[in-house]
Amino acid sequence: MRIEDFPQEIRPYLLPKIKGELFYQCLGCGQKHGIEKLLYTCPGCGEVLLIYNEDAERVKRISGRIWQRILDYRKMLKIPAMKGIFLYHEFIAPVIPLEAIVYLGEGHTPVVEANPLMQQKAGIKFYFKNDGQNPSASFKDRGMASAMSYINFLIQKGLVSDVLAICASTGDTSAAAALYASYLRADIKSAVILPHKKVTPQQLSQPLGSGAAVFEIPGVFDDCMKVVEHLAENYNVALLNSKNAWRILGQESYSYEVAQAFEYEMEDKVVIVPIGNAGNITAVMNGFMKFHEAKIISALPKIIGVQSEHANPVCLYYREPDPEKRRFVPVTVKPSVAQAAMIGNPVSMPRVIHLAESYNRMAGKQRVFFVEVKEQAIMDCYLLANRNGHVACTHGGECLAGLMAARKQKIVKDEEIAILDSTAHALKFSGFQEMYFENRFPPEFEVSPNPKLVNAPILMRPSDLEKVPGPGNPLPDEEFKIFVKRVSEEIAKALNLKKSA
Ligand SMILES: *Cc1c(COP(=O)(O)O)cnc(C)c1O
Ligand SMILES: [Zn+2]
Repeated sequence: MRIEDFPQEIRPYLLPKIKGELFYQCLGCGQKHGIEKLLYTCPGCGEVLLIYNEDAERVKRISGRIWQRILDYRKMLKIPAMKGIFLYHEFIAPVIPLEAIVYLGEGHTPVVEANPLMQQKAGIKFYFKNDGQNPSASFKDRGMASAMSYINFLIQKGLVSDVLAICASTGDTSAAAALYASYLRADIKSAVILPHKKVTPQQLSQPLGSGAAVFEIPGVFDDCMKVVEHLAENYNVALLNSKNAWRILGQESYSYEVAQAFEYEMEDKVVIVPIGNAGNITAVMNGFMKFHEAKIISALPKIIGVQSEHANPVCLYYREPDPEKRRFVPVTVKPSVAQAAMIGNPVSMPRVIHLAESYNRMAGKQRVFFVEVKEQAIMDCYLLANRNGHVACTHGGECLAGLMAARKQKIVKDEEIAILDSTAHALKFSGFQEMYFENRFPPEFEVSPNPKLVNAPILMRPSDLEKVPGPGNPLPDEEFKIFVKRVSEEIAKALNLKKSA
């Protein structure tokens, strides 16, 4: 739709004004730092940062009701820069001009209602939000779009050049970073550091295909993270892990989309996300709080962070009910099918502690919860979801297992509606499905297949047939007819088919 076709009162706001006073806020010493330089941690005390807008009051000059209409009408615009996460420009990074925005098709992922069978099983109405339908097939694209647009903005202003973007990854961050860097390849090169044999073949193929330099190192993600931190402290590189606060801003779009998908009605909603490095849950909490402050939503949804028992540092921290007595202790991870969340020392832990407290305070009651699930439950739920029309990854399965666990613990009520984050596409983790179907899980995973969920291909090669067709080797007509008839008969037998009249 063209600008002149929108309602009069919306027109002045359809295109964002490029304006704002963003700054880094240190969560340790509380110092503020300017955004002209890419910072990952506070130069004063070394703690992690969040980005805030000094001019946040500006959005409050427009009523929540008008904001809802602006955002809804913006969906009809055909401007590429605003088709992705920057539909919510004022709430993400309002200083970035549209010309610097990199849009590769991220965001606005489908929200798919679970079928009646699944809803019955969970005893509650719920949806999957398919963040695997982002360009590199995970939610990481949301944060990469904001971080790379910011770097692109610095390049266009002549403040940086010849950028080397670097990240450690459990697979999906590197896929996203390499993809966005390849689009900007005239100015940005990328290098990714992966734990050897701890990412899936699909995830490994992604940065390779995008032309990144790919380094595999021994150990787990937490070890890779230390290496990139060392590189970022000692060399001239741009760190693209979620330690980079620009990533968090883009990932907040997930919350904005959830709010918009449900007509901004959040009182009865429960948003369930997996936790690894804890960047995602940080962004989700922050996003809802920003919308609440702008009165775009009048209630904060419940948020449930889910972790596997094999990588549960956040859950262990919150297991202590007395906030005064809580102590964060990193854990040594065990193998997990929620492999992208197999992290024992989450970088964003200080952000989670800070924001969960603000969130509960803003809600006036406890609205943030953490639940732990077993590897077996993650795997079973992952397969179950996909047997019911979803394309969930193992972390989507983790969310479903988390919903079931939260139901048992009475954290979620019958009449509430849950939105589960399928953070990546099912296909990235099909290797775990294969291990399950073929009963090949090494014992340390603690997963054994439920026969009801197992599936395998059946080779149909009737033994009475001497010849079968092969590539470049067709059968003569008569033999081929027999082949088709015999194979069909065998399939009909296997499926118990009745002859048509
Ligand atoms: C990164 C990732 C997670 C974990 O998100 P954090 O922000 O690290 O907590 C979960 N699922 C998938 C598929 C991921 O790629
Ligand atoms: Zn500080």
